[in-house]
Amino acid sequence: MSSIKQRLTRVRQRIEQAERQAERTPASTILLAVSKTRTADEIRAAFAAGQTAFGENYLQDALEKIDALADLKLEWHFIGRIQSNKTKPIAENFDWVHSIASLKHARRLGEQRPPERPPLKICIQVNTSGEASKGGHEPEQLPELLKAYQALPGIEVVGLMTIPALTDDAAAQRRPFRLLRNLRDTLRSDALPLETLSMGMSGDLEAAILEGATIVRIGTAIFGPRQYNSTN
Ligand SMILES: *Cc1c(COP(=O)(O)O)cnc(C)c1O
Repeated sequence: MSSIKQRLTRVRQRIEQAERQAERTPASTILLAVSKTRTADEIRAAFAAGQTAFGENYLQDALEKIDALADLKLEWHFIGRIQSNKTKPIAENFDWVHSIASLKHARRLGEQRPPERPPLKICIQVNTSGEASKGGHEPEQLPELLKAYQALPGIEVVGLMTIPALTDDAAAQRRPFRLLRNLRDTLRSDALPLETLSMGMSGDLEAAILEGATIVRIGTAIFGPRQYNSTN
């Protein structure tokens, strides 16, 4: 069994190698450690190995860990499905939300963001695979919607996010990532640089970095296979 520290080192090497292959600036990709279903102790082990940004999908589970780890200086990213009646704890406890697929949710999050905290950073989720189950806005809707998102107080739209269908085929992996980057390039402006492309997971981080990912969301490759139990 390799340790979380060893796996993190391996993931960082994969990221560096992909950045070199893409001729990108070294360390231009942020590594988000996806800690859903993991314990606070596993997060402490990752923190001890230099990891500070963590992504969570399940709100109740996340809130318990955020509380248990309040002694550490961590950055928390919400990446799961949002329930309309549960936006307040997200607005109060997270630094980023990647999975925004509803203007209504974004409006509530902005309204509920404590005024003493910086605006909540949000990525708008885009459906790049045409599968309804994947969630996210259709790419064609984005130009119109972006203006409405941009006008909301309490949030800062920093970029786009996608979760494509899983495939081992390298060319097929790159297609949805390229679509997201091209979409971002047509939407960005001086007033709204949309610097973030949140894309790439354990199985396809190289493809995502080659297409311009600025944040990769990595769970299994850092923490090992997920173990779900009845509380998740
Ligand atoms: C679970 C999850 C990840 C991490 O997936 P791995 O394949 O374990 O790296 C990334 N993004 C989202 C939205 C997830 O739900």
